[in-house]
Amino acid sequence: MNAYRLFRRAIGDNVVLILDSGDHLRGFFGDSDAPSMTVWVNRDLPDAAAMFVLDHELYHIRDTAKNWIWREIKANVYSGFLHPVGFCQVVG
Ligand SMILES: [Zn+2]
Repeated sequence: MNAYRLFRRAIGDNVVLILDSGDHLRGFFGDSDAPSMTVWVNRDLPDAAAMFVLDHELYHIRDTAKNWIWREIKANVYSGFLHPVGFCQVVG
């Protein structure tokens, strides 16, 4: 994973990025917490997948929708267009 690229992206969005080794995510790809502006990305992901997960979680940070399924669809479509290879690695 290109950690430098991920941190550049997160800093640009004023978000705290944690490259998680499993303590928080427990095997999941990513997570986000809007109140603390924090995003977790699984540090074992390949580069494209990590970028997909990061932009997916950054979308969640700013999304005000409440419906869980609708939130996931929007975050996947948004990040999938930015990182199609990462989308396939994570979702496919
Ligand atoms: Zn999500």
